[in-house]
Amino acid sequence: MRASHRAPPQVQVGTLSSQSFLGQRATRMLDLTTYIRDIPDFPKPGIVFKDLTPLLRAPEALAEAVRRLVKPFRGAGVTAVLGMEARGFVFGALAAQQLGAGFVPLRKPGKLPAATASARYDLEYGSAELHMHVDALSARDRVLLVDDLIATGGTARASLSLAEQAGATIVACAFVVELDFLRGRDALGGCRVHSLIHV
Ligand code: AMP
Repeated sequence: MRASHRAPPQVQVGTLSSQSFLGQRATRMLDLTTYIRDIPDFPKPGIVFKDLTPLLRAPEALAEAVRRLVKPFRGAGVTAVLGMEARGFVFGALAAQQLGAGFVPLRKPGKLPAATASARYDLEYGSAELHMHVDALSARDRVLLVDDLIATGGTARASLSLAEQAGATIVACAFVVELDFLRGRDALGGCRVHSLIHV
């Protein structure tokens, strides 16, 4: 867990305004922030964990989150969505289905059965490693990286490097939540970043 921060940030109450257009009935967009809860001091003191399980549990919120994640990338020719273990699997696989793309799981060491490439990244104490099957991507692929949350950006940076090693084109990274104060997007080398909720 890299997102060590002492002051629990408030989730933005991004109440989305109703729109009235040419007399059409106003439509109220779902406020996804209400489906995310802060769990202080999890998994250890000083961490405010953004728990997305209420969002996963609510069909309308889950569908809306996935729709918004993929919206900018419809028609972008994405051939593969990369998802990081474990919450990235949920959003990544659903996003892949929406885009008519395949899904590539990025896993912790020792989990993938065939030959893998790996990338190390720094944690608060020590480091961690993500693996991808070496035959999962080729230079013809156009990749969208999806995870539930970006904090320091270390996980996403390692994931991007696996796609780059395979010669794939990176279209963008998409996250449900971005912890702005940790500036994780600065670690992504200018890659386009699309986040639904900024904290
Ligand atoms: P990072 O590599 O620092 O960007 O951390 C991102 C990864 O760690 C994501 O896969 C998140 O699921 C998880 N993560 C980091 N910080 C938090 C947090 N405060 N709440 C929930 N998940 C987190």
